[in-house]
Order: sequence, then structure tokens, then C-alpha cells
Amino acid sequence: MLQPDRETRAEWTKTVTAFVEEFIEGLEAAPASATGTALLPPPPAETPGELADLLDRFADAASQAVETAGPRYLAYFPAGGLYSSVLAEFAAQATNRYTGVASTAPALVALEHSVIRWFCTEFGLPAGSGGIFTTGASLATLSAVHTARQDRLGKHDPNGTIYVTPHTHHCVAKAAHITGFAPERIRTVPTDAHLRMDVAAAHAMIADDRARGLRPFLIIGTAGATSTGIVDPLDAIAALAQRESLWFHADGAYGGAFQLTARGKSILNGIQRADSIAWDPHKSLFLPYGTGVLLVRDEARLRAAHVADGDYLQDLDHGTGVPDYADLGPELTREFRGLRVWLPLHLHGVKAFRDALDEKHDLADHLRTELAKIETIELLPSGLTVVVFRSANSEQLLKAVNDSGRFFLSSTRLGGEFTLRVCILSHRTHREHVDEFVELIRRLSAPPAK
Ligand SMILES: *Cc1c(COP(=O)(O)O)cnc(C)c1O
Repeated sequence: MLQPDRETRAEWTKTVTAFVEEFIEGLEAAPASATGTALLPPPPAETPGELADLLDRFADAASQAVETAGPRYLAYFPAGGLYSSVLAEFAAQATNRYTGVASTAPALVALEHSVIRWFCTEFGLPAGSGGIFTTGASLATLSAVHTARQDRLGKHDPNGTIYVTPHTHHCVAKAAHITGFAPERIRTVPTDAHLRMDVAAAHAMIADDRARGLRPFLIIGTAGATSTGIVDPLDAIAALAQRESLWFHADGAYGGAFQLTARGKSILNGIQRADSIAWDPHKSLFLPYGTGVLLVRDEARLRAAHVADGDYLQDLDHGTGVPDYADLGPELTREFRGLRVWLPLHLHGVKAFRDALDEKHDLADHLRTELAKIETIELLPSGLTVVVFRSANSEQLLKAVNDSGRFFLSSTRLGGEFTLRVCILSHRTHREHVDEFVELIRRLSAPPAK
């Protein structure tokens, strides 16, 4: 019963694709948010169920959600879930090749590695660079912090210190915690008037910490802050890291992909000098959730920090010429993440991605221009495709926008103050959606008629 025959497979596939088609066609008109309650469905029965019924239950549960795949999702980081990637995943899971080590499917590991190599080239990393696909930037950051520690401190030293800013993503603090650093070993460097790391202040803090007997070893530059999209002065951070022999990790989870555009490349200048770069194809390459990447300047250092062996692996050939991914990260068995990135890049062509990122960049600039024309709106500093602003009553405005059912927004705090935040990053969001959003904000922030 676990092996459906050809006819049953065809019928099941038809049922699922019919659902997917209806879902995708409905996205343009779907409410931006329709969250329900989390009711636990009954446990599985001993006897077979009907696929159509089960799919209905899934569809019902999936519909009670924030519409993260829709064009009007402007909260956190939109990622519509590129359809070509969905199909790649279907084919990858059906073949179910083992890619934790290379020798069991060397050509597929080479296919995955070709994407990593291409990323390294786009990021200007030298020969000897490499990396690995992870589930997301949080796991990529964990591996980066661990590698930095092994490389710069040799072994664990509780006096190791890490330099961040108030705008650094909390995954760095989480990674530091997991790798055994106390919260006070994370040093928060102040930012300048544009919310970018004050590199001179970082320099002074490093000197001060050394004088106190601490061991500075890692500095984080953010390439697109989560709250504001602002990019730290990566080139100056790289220079400081080099002078002080610190590991320079660039967190490009959100902004890294803009390296694929000419405009983005100039904003991210300095990222090519990083020791490691984390970024998320599941954010800015529009892929479904579950795809992050860690790139490293020197793959040998990543390997040295993660390699391990077991007797039961003695039959494997380690001379395939492509990496054993198990040596480059904490996982042994892993999904074959390569196809979900490789197929879309080859199918659509790279230019389609560069153009889409440029379009989102233009849309964010357009939004800034239009919001600036609304008297009651105060724009705050922001970068790339994030736009942040306040109104006379920002909390009420956020609620009114989300209650409209047309758009879904999130908020953040800047200087301790409540701030509305828009991120334009779905491949489905276009000019007409942004214009509709501007109209909504204009209407909601008009003073009440007397
Ligand atoms: C989203 C984000 C992360 C975390 O990435 P996940 O893929 O959610 O683990 C890290 N850093 C920055 C700057 C981010 O925006």
C-alpha cells in the first residue's frame, strides 16, 4: 500500500497540482491576512484516507494565515515561493539522492557546488572560497561564528569578544550563546547618524577590550539590516578586521542578493573582503523557505571547523573532487538543496533575477518618494527595499492597514520608538500594488473630515 501504482500516482499528482493552480491563481485577490485559531486535528487513523479530503483540510488550514506568498505581503521579508523552485523540489525529493557525502551522487553534488562556485564569483571571493547551502541564515551564522572561533581563538576561550551594532540580527547573539559566549562578550558598537556602524568607535572598543585582557576575534557587518535595510560600511569594517586580525562576517541574509545588481554591488562594496557571508535565497532570490547559504573566503577553514568521521563511513570515497557537505556543516544527512536553486537560475536565466531585484529596488525608491509627499508621514533612514516611517499615531495606522485586509505590514523600533516598516521583496509585487498601498496610506492618514 505504500507503493501506489502508476494510475494512482497520476491521480494524486493531478489532485495536488489542481489545488496548487487554484492557489496561485487566487493570490492576486486573496486577503492579505486571515489568521484563524490553532486547532489540533485528530490523530491519523489505521485505515487509508482520501487524498482530496485530506488536501481540503490542508487547504483550509493554509488559508487561515498571513498571505506570505501574495503580492501585498510587505511585512518582515516577503518571499513568494518561486514556482520553478517548487517543481525542482518535487523532482529532487522524488529522486531522493544522498548528498551528505559526494561519492553517493557526485554529479548532483557537482551541480549544487556549481551554484556555490557561481555565488563565490558574484561576491568576488577568491580561488579557494566555497560554502554550503543551509536551512537559513541563522544556521549559516551559527557555522560562521563557530568557524571564526576555531580559526581565531584556536579553541574555546570565554574571553573571546564579538562586535555588533544595535541593528545586528539576533541570530548572532543566538549563535554566540550556543557556541558558549556570555552575553557581555557581545559588544555593541554605536552607529552614526545614518544608523551604520561607527567604525572608529569599534576600533576604540577593540583596543579597550584588549587592554582589559579580552580577545576580540569577530566583527559582524550587516549588509541590509532587518529593521531598516541599511548597509554597514563594509569596506571600512573589512579594513579594521584586517588590521586587528578579526574574522569579518557579513550578514547579508536579506541584502546579500543585491550583489547580483550593479547598484547593489556598489552599495555592498567591501563584502568581497569578508571571511564569511551568510545570505538567504529564501528571502531575496524569491525561493520557498528553507534555503540559506554560507559562503567562506577559505573553504579549508570551514572544513577544519566541522570535519568529523565515523567507522561506518569507511566505504566512502573522499576523492570525488567536490566537497563532502557533511564536512562543511553540522548536518550529515541533508536535503539535496541544490536543485531548488540551480533549476530556477538556469530556467529563467540570471538576468531575470537581476531585473527583478532592480525592479524591487526601484519600487522602494518610488514608495519613499510618494510617502514623502504625505504631510503626516515622517520617513526615517532606510536602504535597499526596506522603507520605514511614522505617523501621528503609528500603532493605529499599522492596525488600520492590516485590518483593511489588502496589505500586511509589520513594525519595528528605532531609537526605542515604534516605527512602521515596509519591505518590497516578493516577485509578485509590482508597481500597481505599491501605488494601491500609497493610496491606502494617504486615505488612512488624512485628518478626519469635520
Ligand atoms: C532574516 C535575517 C536573518 C535570519 O535568517 P533566517 O533565514 O530567518 O534564519 C539573519 N540576519 C538578517 C540580517 C536577517 O534579515
